[in-house]
Amino acid sequence: RAKATGRNCYEFFTQNLQAEVITTKRIADEILAGLENDEFTAWYQPQFCARTMELTGVEALVRWNHPNQGVLTPDRFLKIADELNVVQMFDRIVLEKALQDKMRWAARGIVVPKVSVNVSSRRLNDETLFETLTTLAIVPGEISFELIESIFLDESDTVVSHNLERIKSLGIDIEIDDFGTGHTSIVSLLKLRPKRLKIDRQLVQPILESQQERALVRSIIEIAHSLDVDTVAEGVETFEHAAMLRELGCDLLQGYAFSKPRSFEDFCTMVQAAEWRKVS
Ligand code: C2E
Ligand code: MG
Ligand code: MG
Ligand code: MG
Repeated sequence: RAKATGRNCYEFFTQNLQAEVITTKRIADEILAGLENDEFTAWYQPQFCARTMELTGVEALVRWNHPNQGVLTPDRFLKIADELNVVQMFDRIVLEKALQDKMRWAARGIVVPKVSVNVSSRRLNDETLFETLTTLAIVPGEISFELIESIFLDESDTVVSHNLERIKSLGIDIEIDDFGTGHTSIVSLLKLRPKRLKIDRQLVQPILESQQERALVRSIIEIAHSLDVDTVAEGVETFEHAAMLRELGCDLLQGYAFSKPRSFEDFCTMVQAAEWRKVS
């Protein structure tokens, strides 16, 4: 590739660029068709109390039942959906499905105390969100909204803080997602009084090898606790990580060590088999 002449190189890049534009356009069209055809759904990943290993809730994550590519994860479509200004549609669909599935779990005798959904900034500023929420009978603490750091970045943004207060007053918990990947200070974030802080897997994964990273995670947990905020570790891939996080005082654990995200049916099967009990 590098050895190509100038002209060939130019052609190579234009062709590549054209191919990329065509692919993006195709995926964009497929996303819009998929929304029409109800191809998007929620999958669920369990969260556990670090001390007792009891199931405390699930995170609902969008999945695309693509007509000929199988089940696709958000890395395949979220960026394009954001450019298309339709990410808020996924948030709406996932919340709706999660609330329906919560009732279906209850009907099967499966107790899922809490459902967390990811909420984009577009959705947070979408008035129809509040129209939907006011029609729901929400039991306080049963639903949680995960928001990434950048949404909180501009503390002076009165719309954001006003909407956060409205959400809290409806009995919905606020969680800060992917903590550690943004540029916000932990203290200013925690002043917003979220219910939970989710420590990003980039911070969680090195805790066994690196004493410094371990100390960092311990400090984050301590600061959160001093402000009465619970902590969730993301990306817990091994039981060694789980044991260390428990030692560091982390409240909740989520990750492949326990389960990958699963469809409603697979999640039910797993809970009924209680596969994860072997870890406690
Ligand atoms: P997130 O909210 O931080 O969700 C956690 C992601 O980490 C999920 O990826 C999950 O499958 C993955 N994960 C969980 N445990 C492990 C682990 O032990 N190791 C590793 N390597 N990964 C783990 P997923 O489902 O592909 O979602 C990616 C991101 O897409 C989410 O990150 C979230 O930012 C976004 N997303 C997902 N669903 C929605 C949605 O409904 N609305 C919006 N706005 N964003 C969503
Ligand atoms: Mg999340
Ligand atoms: Mg996260
Ligand atoms: Mg993440």
